[in-house]
Amino acid sequence: MQGNSLEACHALITGGGTGIGAATARHLSAAGAKITVTGRRREPLEAIAGEVGGAIAQCDVTDRAAIERAFDEARAANGPINILVVNAGTAESAPFHKMTRDSWNRIIATNLTGAFDCAQAALPDLLASNNGRLVFIASVASLRGIPYAAHYGASKHGLLGLSRSLAAEYARSTMTVNAVCPGYVDTPMTDQSVARVVEKTGRSDDDARAAITQMNASGRLVDPDGVATLVLTLCLPQSRDINGAALTIDGGSTA
Ligand code: NDP
Repeated sequence: MQGNSLEACHALITGGGTGIGAATARHLSAAGAKITVTGRRREPLEAIAGEVGGAIAQCDVTDRAAIERAFDEARAANGPINILVVNAGTAESAPFHKMTRDSWNRIIATNLTGAFDCAQAALPDLLASNNGRLVFIASVASLRGIPYAAHYGASKHGLLGLSRSLAAEYARSTMTVNAVCPGYVDTPMTDQSVARVVEKTGRSDDDARAAITQMNASGRLVDPDGVATLVLTLCLPQSRDINGAALTIDGGSTA
């Protein structure tokens, strides 16, 4: 789309081995950025890093010390971090009266506290950069209630609050902070949601997938490449005045 407009930028993508993260790695790399992907499993990271000629830095985003080590490894490989895409996330489902505190803690630790830790670990680099970019992969669950996923909805509302607050706090800097809010996307996370519906209701895989797909107003799953294109747009130098936005990409569900 924009040739090599991200040349000389280092983009670190958490959860970059699969789904939206992997698509983002491909799109930012195609625009010229040097890529580091992070996550817990080594194999998917190696696959995408091999594809885009990037680096990997394994870490669990619920472990602050591991994040700091991984970000230092990323800097050693590709230099200061100019773009941070906070994408790592996890989902579970349960009716609220059966939701365990362990499940609540897992979701908040990964989706919200992990985002706090990653943003803080990259902040000095982002502020020192000419065009620092902090992009949070939030969700339509940042904007409206999601039955049977109160913890996920709370974590994603919190993530949007974090994004908007940082955008306001650093508005006078050259860094922008934005949130991308997808509906159901065609990724492994949605495959897992389908599997949970099958397990809990006994419906067929096809029925469960159709029910989830119909939750997007478009009646189709969002394409991860579309989400990655939106992230790329936010990262371009020309997007310097898009700050504090919550950009939905959901086929019209929140229209
Ligand atoms: P994936 O499951 O493919 O991606 C999630 C990624 O996060 C994986 O690569 C996973 O890698 C990583 N991850 C999960 N937990 C941790 C952890 N504790 N530490 C480090 N990495 C972790 O699904 P998506 O691509 O769909 O999800 C990406 C983001 O998009 C998530 O934040 C999700 O909430 C959000 N989103 C997804 C939607 C959807 O419909 N799929 C809709 C709206 C938002 P590993 O397991 O190897 O650590």
